[in-house]
Amino acid sequence: MCPDIRRTRGKAKRGLETEPHAIRFVNTVAWRLRASPEERLSSPEALLEWLGTNGIGYKTALEELSEAWRSRPAEGAVFYEMAIRFREAIYDILIAKMRGNEPLQPTLGLFNELLTSPRPGLRLEWDRNALVWSMRHGRASPLDLLGPIAFSASELMTGSKAGKVRQCEDDRGCGWLFVDESRSQRRRWCSMGDCGNRAKARRHYQRVRSPFL
Ligand SMILES: [Zn+2]
Repeated sequence: MCPDIRRTRGKAKRGLETEPHAIRFVNTVAWRLRASPEERLSSPEALLEWLGTNGIGYKTALEELSEAWRSRPAEGAVFYEMAIRFREAIYDILIAKMRGNEPLQPTLGLFNELLTSPRPGLRLEWDRNALVWSMRHGRASPLDLLGPIAFSASELMTGSKAGKVRQCEDDRGCGWLFVDESRSQRRRWCSMGDCGNRAKARRHYQRVRSPFL
């Protein structure tokens, strides 16, 4: 867990939209490996907005929740805290697995609790030539919203991509996760257009300054 996460609004880096839901969710914390990481989901409202942008939950269902939370903010706050704890559990488990360590039991317990929660409103629907996640009108519960993320995370922990989850090696402390789909399996940065480019430019600068490096 990262109790010192600073809350900011920042732009997503390019390329992230192709990552699985769980990775995109975990990467709503930027600069994870710094002393003060940045929280990009600064409120229950920002969380709903992120879910909508990432294809989880129908717009109308999200609007209904948003309206309900305006009159009952405590409900929004409870869900928000739970979603953030869930996100940090996913991060901790993926990192433990990446390092070959057993995840902590309370962390795995929290993850399992949300993985197996009943989701009466969640379903798949055919929409414009694609299967999409949706929530049954009037029966949606906030827990439904975490379903697609939970399924995505469990697939990353156990499925064919389980050995391909990596953490960005950027030395400024980016710390974002990504799935290395490269043939060589030696990808080191979350995005070549950002952290990768910077590392390349830095190496070039060092070579120019020290030709014997
Ligand atoms: Zn990075």
